[in-house]
Amino acid sequence: MAKIYKSHLPSLQVPDESIFTHLFSTRFFDFPPSSPAFIDAATDVKLTRGDVRDMCLALAFGLRNTLKTLGGVQLKRGDVVLIFSPNSILWPIMLFGSIAAGLRVTLANSNYVSRELEHQWVDSRAKAIFVAPPLLPVVQDMFRAAGLSEAETRQRIVLADWGSYEGSGGLSSQFITMTKLLGGGKLATEEKFPGKQSSETVLLCYSSGTTGKPKGVETTHRNITYCVNMTRVVYPTSTTQDVMLAVLPFFHIFGVSNILTFSFLIGSTIVIMPKFDPVDFCRNIEKYKVTMSMIVPPICLALIHHPATTKFNLKSLRFMASGAAPLSEAVVKATEARLQSVGAQTMVCQGYGLTETSPTTHFLPLEDRLRKVGSVGVLIPNLEARLVVDNTTDAELGGMGELWVRGPNVMKGYLNNPEATKNSITLDGWFKTGDVAIRDSDGYYYIVDRQKELIKYKGFQVAPAELESVLIQHPDIVDAAVIGVYSDKDASELPRAYVVHGKGLKGEAAVAFGNEVEKWIAPRVAKHKLLRGGVVVVDAVPRSAAGKILRRELRDLAKREVAGV
Ligand code: AMP
Repeated sequence: MAKIYKSHLPSLQVPDESIFTHLFSTRFFDFPPSSPAFIDAATDVKLTRGDVRDMCLALAFGLRNTLKTLGGVQLKRGDVVLIFSPNSILWPIMLFGSIAAGLRVTLANSNYVSRELEHQWVDSRAKAIFVAPPLLPVVQDMFRAAGLSEAETRQRIVLADWGSYEGSGGLSSQFITMTKLLGGGKLATEEKFPGKQSSETVLLCYSSGTTGKPKGVETTHRNITYCVNMTRVVYPTSTTQDVMLAVLPFFHIFGVSNILTFSFLIGSTIVIMPKFDPVDFCRNIEKYKVTMSMIVPPICLALIHHPATTKFNLKSLRFMASGAAPLSEAVVKATEARLQSVGAQTMVCQGYGLTETSPTTHFLPLEDRLRKVGSVGVLIPNLEARLVVDNTTDAELGGMGELWVRGPNVMKGYLNNPEATKNSITLDGWFKTGDVAIRDSDGYYYIVDRQKELIKYKGFQVAPAELESVLIQHPDIVDAAVIGVYSDKDASELPRAYVVHGKGLKGEAAVAFGNEVEKWIAPRVAKHKLLRGGVVVVDAVPRSAAGKILRRELRDLAKREVAGV
């Protein structure tokens, strides 16, 4: 008999409408359209809620009409557009404007090299791409490799020449730009997705899931409208008075759902940073009187050790919620102590979830953050969970098993990949997380292991299968396996490769070859996939009779190597 645990929190009604309609029609608090919505920390450019709505409806008109008139592709409801940009004040406009136009949006990591971007472009069947000007060469390379002419490339590119990229060094005259699309007219109202249509896909983030290469995660309007409402219930003290420092990338579901959409819904001001830097982070807290931030564990580490923490006034910072990777008890305590030493009474807690669950499934209530430190918390409203052993039996009370969840935040499936969808979602709706958890008698969950292949470097996904396929392109490598090794110093896992050299190198020659491979891979992958955990030459990669890499054996080997035994 299945042992099903239900959330103890009251269930929520899930709104049946598009994200755009929900964001601009819901009023939890009274705030005028003139209240500040976004501030670009890099330029201090500000947008009010009224500006955001106007610009989104203008962009929606531009995408559906002006783009074609300017020689670009024709976009219709349901088509996919790709956003390739670091965080900027244009991000919410690109995202919500595309949604207002009835489009689906795929979000790419802005550190991708052209090969990685091409996988997402092709797989998602995107028709047009928003590009931050500094990333244009990557996109041009991608289209060149795909055999597109200059003219065909230009039809598909929308240059994000606004905010930090105003002017764009002369590129604006050569490309279709956001400025041109914003100037053509304005939709009277957004495309609607009422009732059942709210279960249509709106976002395609990429996740490798349990195994293999990154796949498009079909997130629906309803997945997100549920999640942002749920976040409001679990963090009820968030209000229009809050200032959210948005430092995590918007291309990850944590950024797009928990930061961009949630904070906008509750009427907070969102200060946007292009990337994390300890000095800028602390300076922005002081400058904008930031009250909350969603973070990943390495940011805690920086706050504990970096001198910037003592140089700026951080007293306004009330709350930081960490996700995307494990946050240890020691790091929570040290972060709070360090912030207290500079007069900030900041509460640090964590949540847990996945791209496939839009993303949150568990959160640790603020009042429990010290009593249950180390736990990812309790199930969010409407959710059910099971802890399953060997894909079949449910663990005994208090025992460990793979965490399965069911609820309104579970994705529709993997795009054009029924096999992967079938392997991850059961017929009765249980999503298999690939993480191993235990649940204590009070209903608090602890993630104790990961049985899927995935590696997370500072919250970013690294798919071993993808790195392995790059490694075996090296002319001297005949087999390769990649695993994650945990580094306390970095508060993160690091990707580590085991490779087999065609000539069976040993000793110093093997060490030198490992170093060479670390350098060889650098220009071929995004920065977060670098083999920071090292490259070790082995005689053979351990494989099962069926040829599957025995990763558990490699993880044990890595532990012994790190311990020097
Ligand atoms: P992503 O889809 O990129 O959000 O990655 C999801 C994975 O990140 C999960 O399956 C976990 O392995 C890991 N993860 C996320 N949050 C936590 C957490 N609080 N503690 C431990 N692992 C986490």
